[in-house]
Amino acid sequence: MKKLLTTTVMAASLSALTLTGCTSTTSTGAVGVDRQQLLLVSSEQVLALSAQSYAKTIQDAKSKGVLDTNTAQLNRLKNIANRLVGQVDVYRADAAKWQWEVHTIKSNDLNAFVVPGGKIMFYSGIIDRLNLTDDEIAAIMGHEISHALREHSRERLSREYATQTGIGLAASIFGLSQGQAELAGTAGNLGLSLPHSRTQESEADQIGLELMARAGYNPQAAVTLWQKMQKASQGEPPQFLSTHPTSSSRIAELQSLMPKVTPLYQQSRR
Ligand SMILES: [Zn+2]
Repeated sequence: MKKLLTTTVMAASLSALTLTGCTSTTSTGAVGVDRQQLLLVSSEQVLALSAQSYAKTIQDAKSKGVLDTNTAQLNRLKNIANRLVGQVDVYRADAAKWQWEVHTIKSNDLNAFVVPGGKIMFYSGIIDRLNLTDDEIAAIMGHEISHALREHSRERLSREYATQTGIGLAASIFGLSQGQAELAGTAGNLGLSLPHSRTQESEADQIGLELMARAGYNPQAAVTLWQKMQKASQGEPPQFLSTHPTSSSRIAELQSLMPKVTPLYQQSRR
């Protein structure tokens, strides 16, 4: 039975391989992100899992009375999201038609994330405690949107899937065993909540910077944002930094990209 299951998974794996394999989810843009990605798990599978996880977050927040409590703040975030999403077709045309959503959670935590497929979540703490400007919010949001555009979570799930330890997960993704809840938990740990790789972080920084510049937000704010993060991490490291480690090299890389994105920003202001 076990052998049969493994064979079935291997067969499914091979067919998935021929269907997807190595490709790049986005166009290169002005910053020139051009890396082939191993994508063995389908977008639909990742989206189904992440929609479930986002819905649970929303439900939990609602039941605690902390969802979207500050209308002015929510509208501010929605305006910034609209301007950034208006630029995503530079990287991939289909993303402009995604069901983008923005919500806030009232919390002291410094946290923000975008779930695959374009569901944005900001904790009020990151805005209020770091006293973020619109440009700095656009820097965080642009970075997170870029993870979604590049399908970094799907890439990580695929990497797990490609390894022997991923066989059990693969079986469950293909509906061959295990309960739905356990699956969501496993996938959540593997693909949705663990830190991204350095490469993925760097790609999200680059694309995010271009998105914000094209949307008319000062790209220099990405630098001041990470400086604020660095300062905030000296006490108790904020949750956001556990998935997005800040460093001087990150800030230096952002600085080095300014000549590429500043003209786009100036153009958008005209
Ligand atoms: Zn990131």
